[in-house]
Amino acid sequence: MDWLTDITYLKGVGPKRAELLNKEIDVFTIKDLLYYFPYKYVDRSKFYTVRDLTTELAYVQMKGKIIKIEEHGQGRSKRLVAKFFDGVGTIDLVWFQGIKWIKNNLKIGQEYIVFGKPNFFRNGTISIPHPELETVEKYEARTVRGSFQPYYSTTERLRKSFISSRTISELVSKALEIVDNIPDFMPDYLIERIGFLPLSEAIKNIHFPQNPHKLQLAEFRLKFDEFFINQLSLIKQKRLRTEKTAGYVFEHVGEYFNRFYNEKLSFELTNAQKRVLKEIRRDFKSGHQANRLLQGDVGSGKTIVALMSMLIALDNDFQACLMAPTEILAQQHYKNFIELLDGLDINVKLLTGSTKTRERKIIHHQLLTGELQILVGTHALIEDTVQFKRLGLAIIDEQHRFGVAQRAKLWQKGKIPPHVIVMTATPIPRTLSMTLYGDLDVSVIDEMPPGRKPIKTIHVRESGRRRLYNFIHREIAKGRQVYIVYPLIKESEKLDYKNLEQGYEHILAEFPPPKYRVGMLHGQMKPEDKDLEMARFARGETQILVATTVIEVGVNVPNATVMVIESAERFGLSQLHQLRGRVGRGGEQSYCILVTKDKLSSDARKRIDTMVSTTDGFKIAEMDLHLRGPGDIFGTAQSGFPFHFRIANLSKDGKILQLARNIAEELLQQDPELVLEQHQLLRREVDREIKRSPWGLIS
Ligand code: ADP
Ligand code: MG
Repeated sequence: MDWLTDITYLKGVGPKRAELLNKEIDVFTIKDLLYYFPYKYVDRSKFYTVRDLTTELAYVQMKGKIIKIEEHGQGRSKRLVAKFFDGVGTIDLVWFQGIKWIKNNLKIGQEYIVFGKPNFFRNGTISIPHPELETVEKYEARTVRGSFQPYYSTTERLRKSFISSRTISELVSKALEIVDNIPDFMPDYLIERIGFLPLSEAIKNIHFPQNPHKLQLAEFRLKFDEFFINQLSLIKQKRLRTEKTAGYVFEHVGEYFNRFYNEKLSFELTNAQKRVLKEIRRDFKSGHQANRLLQGDVGSGKTIVALMSMLIALDNDFQACLMAPTEILAQQHYKNFIELLDGLDINVKLLTGSTKTRERKIIHHQLLTGELQILVGTHALIEDTVQFKRLGLAIIDEQHRFGVAQRAKLWQKGKIPPHVIVMTATPIPRTLSMTLYGDLDVSVIDEMPPGRKPIKTIHVRESGRRRLYNFIHREIAKGRQVYIVYPLIKESEKLDYKNLEQGYEHILAEFPPPKYRVGMLHGQMKPEDKDLEMARFARGETQILVATTVIEVGVNVPNATVMVIESAERFGLSQLHQLRGRVGRGGEQSYCILVTKDKLSSDARKRIDTMVSTTDGFKIAEMDLHLRGPGDIFGTAQSGFPFHFRIANLSKDGKILQLARNIAEELLQQDPELVLEQHQLLRREVDREIKRSPWGLIS
């Protein structure tokens, strides 16, 4: 039977079950089912002894006797501990629930087969919480035993209809029996060169591994497959774009650029900034549309590079726009540009959600006539009514806040797409940028402007709050300003978040007017009020700004030297890093103070320790990816993290991804259009991926 056959042709799958499988786990064909991989395996072929146990083992099976049973603790922490001796050593079996029943049924001296997940403690104790237990007699009476058992994830609806992990495993087993041919898209020469399992063998072993080694090989092959198809499609699209998509040519650097450089720029560009500008200029001259990611830590000076790129567009009679993720940021860019460009006679305007109708009309009009040269704004820029005469360059600030679809919309504003530069301050780990931005060229500003003092980061527990306030008093006395950031706006009954309003009251009591002036800023305020509040802080009229994370990106107040983050354990690493970047922008020593409750989970402790020990955005990003996984960093729903891998894991399989990318590049070098005979099946997979991918704009 062909593996593309509908799942209903499988024995044991009627219309009702088929519908459930469709809806719940996206399984329509036998192939889909075979690609529904187990999420774990349980090795029940092997018995471990205490000596064999290592922290890498997820589940173990052991044989031995219970030698002692004790109850420990009181109330909630009450637990039953059985000492289990396997002839080599002793471990603890622990129960927190059903204590009474277990106690009555466990027999000291009886031989048991124990199965579960071992935990290791610092004092050398190993324990298995809530193990599966079976007497040796029972175990030996069972007919089916040994080998790896696959476990499949199920949903509540599936379970209610009696489709359990075991049911799925039986269906897969049947499917493997009746499929007579699993076509392998991987060319033979690669299978040989890399030593891959053939696809059919990989699929068999991913479900029913013959042994651990085969399982490893199967995982490797299938992970590689996912990355490989992904990279092939990204690189192919990038080639298509650079080779086939015409782009405007900005021939020369003219008066705007030169006058700005000679008369306005008050500092020397860093080498990194110069290098990146060169890369951008090369794009502009290539005749192909540029799609460049400009990556640089907070404060590394991306904005100047963006502005100077825009001036080149203007020098060539094109318009340029800059899109920022928030109103505050758009405003700040706008004001910054107005100041920087003063006297150069350039028409710059701001368009946001709160731009008045009259002004809006003028903007629309001037965009069409070409009078308006630089438009700064929020996502209001991508509304259909906004039409340019000759948009040559679109810059997007803080990319990860924009959906991929929004980006595409900007591209579609002219017949020939404008050059696009995406700026991000989120240092993206290499593995991620390879997939997320695989079709973009990447420039990195990896050098900070000179003369900055590194920010000191300090962890303060609730119990040290008094000292924290004393410190803030001293900083303010020196004329400095302070941000205090809270994680939530509205009180949530369930969560004990320190909410902003409460925090504000608290700060007011500690720093009372008229001696102190405290402002408050949050996302639910009207844009005008937000701007007013921000402006007052920027002018130094308020000394303390109590805020939510609305100040996270871009805001620039050089005199602010203290960033206090309340309930810092609630924030992700990237966010903490972004917030820290709000200070350290002037010449004074700056501080980031992470306030947490006294007791921390181990994950929270790792985050805080990372922040205290490094200011390197890339290190922090790697750690973040490691701790949270890629979906979380980019907030899948919000930013449309575009790739979903079934088996490959971006935070763990970086090496496989790198290999896949290298081989994909090599292969496309030889056969750019995938026309060779031995690449035909591969080509079909790649085309399917391109169609599915949000980047499939060109084909
Ligand atoms: P980013 O957008 O990368 O976070 P900005 O472009 O806002 O950083 O730059 C941060 C600050 O550093 C700004 O005040 C900017 O004027 C200044 N700056 C940028 N480049 C340099 C440089 N080469 N030398 C000195 N100061 C610089
Ligand atoms: Mg910025």
